[in-house]
This record gives sequence, C-alpha cells and structure tokens, in this order.
Amino acid sequence: MGMAAFAALAATAAGYQTMAPTGQWYGRAFCRGPRGSKQIGLTFDDGPNDPHTFRLLEVLSKHNVHATFFLIGRYVRQRPDIAAEIAKRGHVIGNHSFTHPLLTLEPASRIRDEILQCGEAINDAAGEHSNLFRAPWGGRRPGVFALVRELGLEPVMWNITGYDWSARSAEFIQQQVAPKLRGGDVVLLHDGGHKAFGTDRSKTVEAVDRILEEYRDRYDFVSIPEMMRRLSNPQLADSKRSP
Ligand SMILES: [Zn+2]
Repeated sequence: MGMAAFAALAATAAGYQTMAPTGQWYGRAFCRGPRGSKQIGLTFDDGPNDPHTFRLLEVLSKHNVHATFFLIGRYVRQRPDIAAEIAKRGHVIGNHSFTHPLLTLEPASRIRDEILQCGEAINDAAGEHSNLFRAPWGGRRPGVFALVRELGLEPVMWNITGYDWSARSAEFIQQQVAPKLRGGDVVLLHDGGHKAFGTDRSKTVEAVDRILEEYRDRYDFVSIPEMMRRLSNPQLADSKRSP
C-alpha cells in the first residue's frame, strides 16, 4: 500500500472512531457490562420531554425496572419538575451537556461550560445525581474524555442502537433492539429530541413497553451504575436465573 492510500485509510478509521460507540482509541468509556451477566442497561437521551418522559416513566414503573437518563441541561432548566420526577422514581440521571453541541468541533472551554452548566441545572432540579456523562451523538476526539474525567465525570457509551430518532413505528425500534439483546448490553434510546422540546417519542415509549413485556423475565433491566458495580464485582449474582 502506498503512503497516500495508507494515510487515507488511517484518516477514515480515525473518523469512524470519533463517532463509533464502542471505539476505545480516544480514551476508555463504559459501553457495556460483562457478557456472562443477565443485566441490560436501557439508556434514554435528550430529555426531559413532555409528555413522553412521563409516559416512559409510567412504562418503566409498570415493569418495575430502572433505567438511566442522560438529560440536556437547557431542557432541565425549562422543566425541572420532569427531572425531579425521574430521580424520585429511582432512575439514574446523567449529564448530556447543556445545549447538545458536537463536542468534536468545540474548544475545551466550551466543552467545560456545557458540562458544568448541565450539571448545575440537574443539581438545582433533582439534587445529587450520578457522575455519568454521555457526549452528544457519542462524539469525541482525543482529549474530550480526559477533560470529562478532569471534571469528575465518567463517560458512558452504548453498544446497541435503537435508531428511534428516525423510526416510523414502534415495531421498527423493537426490531433494532430485541433480536440483538444479550446480557451486558447497553441500549441507546431517546425520550426527547435535541432539536426541539416536545419531540414525539411515543414510538419509543411503545417499543420499550413491548421489549420489557417480552424480556423482563429473562434479563435484569438495571441502571448503568448497577452494571458498573457488577463489572467491578463479577461474583455478584444475577437475580434472573438461567433458563
Ligand atoms: Zn443526544
């Protein structure tokens, strides 16, 4: 291979790693739990949102499971009551920046402001919360995760994508997730939309209801901190027994 071809290939690979959810070149991030476990982590980005976050909370309560919500700070400022309700129901709240910029294009000072402002908004609305951070679109570049950790936060990615932002039906979302599910998976879904508050997520809510209906007896649907705890203590037992 000539140098030019090699450089082009390397550039493509680097570009891919910038957005690939499980890529680890730019610093380690939690993207799934151990394979032997029965744990599944449902994660919901871009909320809080009205009325879809409330409807999702009802579905999660109905199935008695806990999830992780990565909130956008400006929406938390707009509707602190929804963020408070998420926390009250025992779910984990993480930081998803204040305005949802693509961090790979931003200077360190802006990234820091985005993270700190979001953290303050969540603190004001829901009090103490997790130190988890998910980058908008999963975007990163060398140094972003280092900066995130400098601020005391832990980056979290995912390994199953629901593609719910462009889904035509709940069935479509269900099909992106259900056939691929294995113990240890972290699933990316959305209860809000970064472009506008009020984005319709009814299909996601319905898909989650169906997925939980089908799989709640087979898997433990838990928060990301629960999965991290299991990863560092592999001897912890699953509550679901092998079929
Ligand atoms: Zn997002």
